[in-house]
Amino acid sequence: MMTRREAIQKTIFATAALSAGAMTAQTQPAPAPAPAAAPAGPFKLPPLPYAYDALEPHIDALTMQIHHDKHHAAYVANLNKAVAGHADLESKSVEELVRNLDQLPPDIRTAVRNNGGGHLNHSAFWLMMKKNGGGQPKGELAAGIDRDFGSFDKFKAAFTDAATKVFGSGWAWLSLDGKTLKVESTPNQDSVITPGPQVGPGAGFFPAPTPGRIPLLGIDVWEHAYYLKYHNVRADYIAAFFNVIDWDYAAGKYKV
Ligand code: MN
Repeated sequence: MMTRREAIQKTIFATAALSAGAMTAQTQPAPAPAPAAAPAGPFKLPPLPYAYDALEPHIDALTMQIHHDKHHAAYVANLNKAVAGHADLESKSVEELVRNLDQLPPDIRTAVRNNGGGHLNHSAFWLMMKKNGGGQPKGELAAGIDRDFGSFDKFKAAFTDAATKVFGSGWAWLSLDGKTLKVESTPNQDSVITPGPQVGPGAGFFPAPTPGRIPLLGIDVWEHAYYLKYHNVRADYIAAFFNVIDWDYAAGKYKV
């Protein structure tokens, strides 16, 4: 049992400790605020334009949730981190940054290439798919595909082949190169809008010299895009992707 005297002493000690704390608070800098829920910065994660389960059964809801809320969010956060303190870069669009990697300070070029590319590619990727998508393009894009590939089926075979052959992580694309449609692939988060070759870590990577292309359609073949449902069978994911393509998006980017 605590005696009355001990209790009073304990109270005095506690009061003294509180006072000391108050004095410390006045003389020392305030602690850093808790990190905000959304990291600060000019680049924002766009909302997924449909429900997580909208692309079921072809692309499962959990994959979409993790892919958008975690992977894409991480690219945005890391892009913001890369440009922090560079006022001239914070005001640029992600397209401007990724198109002009060679103009970036060398110490952040790789971070912008990877995370700016990731943000740009995924922002388009969500729009390239829709519920009840698939089928074939119509109008001018259909005519362009027939002109440059011979037929839709030949395009589909070329796109499937490019997506299958990406070694490791990357993307396959239907892109517009001047007035010509082409199928190509990029490693990691590289974007087809980046002309090549450029100075720095990416120099000489692309066949030289290439102007940037316009991405009409792209498939993310990083394992995070399909592993939960399709495991190691990338071919089944690529086949399923054709059931969710939004050809109206691709047609809207096809300007010749
Ligand atoms: Mn991805």
